[in-house]
Amino acid sequence: MNLYQPLEPAAAPLIDRFARSITYLRLSVTDRCDLRCSYCMPERMTFLPRAEVLTLEELYLAARAFMARGVRKIRLTGGEPLVRRDMIDLVRALGRHVGHDLDELTLTTNATRLAEFADDLAAAGVRRINVSLDTLDRARFATLARRDMLDDVLAGIAAARAAGLAVKLNTVALKGVNEDEIPDLVAWAHGQGHAITLIEVMPLGDVEADRFDHYLPLDAVRRTLEQRWTLVPNAARSGGPARYVDVAETGGRLGFITPLTGNFCAGCNRVRLTATGQLFMCLGGEGQVDLRAALRGDNREAALDAAFARAMGEKQERHDFAIAGPGGKPRLARHMSVTGG
Ligand code: SAM
Ligand code: SF4
Repeated sequence: MNLYQPLEPAAAPLIDRFARSITYLRLSVTDRCDLRCSYCMPERMTFLPRAEVLTLEELYLAARAFMARGVRKIRLTGGEPLVRRDMIDLVRALGRHVGHDLDELTLTTNATRLAEFADDLAAAGVRRINVSLDTLDRARFATLARRDMLDDVLAGIAAARAAGLAVKLNTVALKGVNEDEIPDLVAWAHGQGHAITLIEVMPLGDVEADRFDHYLPLDAVRRTLEQRWTLVPNAARSGGPARYVDVAETGGRLGFITPLTGNFCAGCNRVRLTATGQLFMCLGGEGQVDLRAALRGDNREAALDAAFARAMGEKQERHDFAIAGPGGKPRLARHMSVTGG
């Protein structure tokens, strides 16, 4: 994985049945994590078998296959991407494609290890990262993430800033958990020069708590924020599901991701590859195509072509999330840590 190698002659671009071009890959490098956020996974999480996890070389090969088919943006995710040993080598290999085949290489992290990696990420060509932060209260963080690591996270965010990385914060809005703190989180983020996006909790995988208890529709949060600030709608789109406003008083940007209360699938440009090489065409659907078999088998290029054609034929028109009523089972058995959000 040393030097930049130009891609093979272009393969057929990824276009689905609804004429949506797939230009964005979320690549999960591991489903493991050093935190146990209670809305994401149970304390005793069953992780994917190690033997099934793609090697870094296979992940790189997979990424090349996507780039050859028109993917211009890759977000590394997980689980926690920075807990995978040597993952910085993958970042460096992919970073060589930035400015050639890729417009952007980025990652989503919980930032516990960001202080260690921020300089290397910036040197490898990463310019922006997303950091998940649900509270600024140490005791609350320790309860919510089941690990007392808020100080590491804050040190990671500071290191990212010092390394010149733009940081966007992601906050899952949770009724009765961090609901009271959301205005302060927004004020803190903007005071530090970071954009922040609020996310509705999604019913993915079993966790100990009942998600229905913590589900907080963002239109209610928005009304609360409007009592304090002037929210000016901003037409900017990330190519993703977030809707943005500018907060007039802070000068910062605030996003809302509302999978439950608003549908955003018409412009979907993304797919997700798990660390075991399963390609999910929709976060809110079961459909998957096995790329690992194609990557590990004979006649790789033909097998990849066939797998991608199947995937494009199966990508669904829209997600079908719905919060089950009290005590209801999650709509999808898969945890968010498998596909990386
Ligand atoms: N570990 C990294 C992190 O936390 O940023 C990357 C993976 S994590 C699965 C990606 C994002 O998904 C995080 O922002 C996390 O808060 C969010 N997330 C996890 N489970 C979720 C759920 N059930 N509903 C909504 N967001 C969730
Ligand atoms: Fe880990 Fe991210 Fe899930 Fe939290 S949200 S448990 S940091 S994968």
